[in-house]
Amino acid sequence: MHPDISVKHLNKTYGDGFQALKDINLEIESGEIFALLGPNGAGKTTLISIICGIVNLSSGEVRAAGHDIVRDYRQARQSIGLVPQELSTDSFETVWGTVSFSRGLFGKPPSPGHIEKVLRDLSLWDKRDNRIMSLSGGMKRRVMIAKALSHEPQILFLDEPTAGVDVELRRDMWNMVRKLRESGVTIILTTHYIEEAEEMADRIGVIRDGEIILVEEKNRLMSKLGKKELRLQLQEPLEQIPGELALDPVSLSGDGYELIYAFDSQDEKAGVARLLRMLGDIGIEYRDLHTSESSLEDIFVNLVHE
Ligand code: ATP
Repeated sequence: MHPDISVKHLNKTYGDGFQALKDINLEIESGEIFALLGPNGAGKTTLISIICGIVNLSSGEVRAAGHDIVRDYRQARQSIGLVPQELSTDSFETVWGTVSFSRGLFGKPPSPGHIEKVLRDLSLWDKRDNRIMSLSGGMKRRVMIAKALSHEPQILFLDEPTAGVDVELRRDMWNMVRKLRESGVTIILTTHYIEEAEEMADRIGVIRDGEIILVEEKNRLMSKLGKKELRLQLQEPLEQIPGELALDPVSLSGDGYELIYAFDSQDEKAGVARLLRMLGDIGIEYRDLHTSESSLEDIFVNLVHE
């Protein structure tokens, strides 16, 4: 079995000499949700546009569903659905009309049954005869997704799918993306809401200055790079860290009423138990304690600024 997307030694230099992608290597397996994260200008859209055949590559090799995107352009493109960042639909057309027309553009024979399923899955069935211009922004976004799914692609790209979408619709879209994955579609999403990647993705790729700096399973990434903090509210304030704790990553805040212990997610048990034992031995009492964990956002910000 081959991966659904395979990118090898991909480089892109734009006409003005700017190198937007540098030796990108990436494989995305069938049926996974892959989140591509990166600051503005990192090269996310350039990479997606190359895979989708909208921008030409400078060197390297890219395959989509096994088809070389240059040599077998049509087959490669047929295997892909793209939901672009910007909403662009024909306002006077009906929902049914525009989605059916999209399917035709990929040379697929009409399939009212498939179009009906897509519209029902996206809660657009009741709106099928409405003109696009009469729909809300969120509904228009659903229409963009319906268009991208009209030709039954194996791979779906979502470029900032929930930008400017309210919380409820965002939840709906996440559920919809999960359903699509269950039906075997491979999903690649770019997002500025890191919370979204944390919630949805199986794997995370981080791109910075045109280079992939990390690809990792989300859970492994969070346990590997995540930091945890234990905060203890003390009965009596401390003026300074007791000598016994000097070697540990502890600090004081809240006028000495709070002791903070930072540790790696991985060796949590040993460290916390030892610290609490040591506090008992020294005779430091606490009223309350709680732990917090760094989010994917904290990890991402650290990675990008490193
Ligand atoms: P954003 O999060 O802002 O959408 P991005 O990660 O998608 O950013 P790209 O749009 O791929 O980034 O842009 C990557 C770099 O390539 C940027 O520095 C951009 O200015 C540059 N770039 C993009 N398109 C062109 C072009 N047609 N000609 C020259 N440079 C370009």
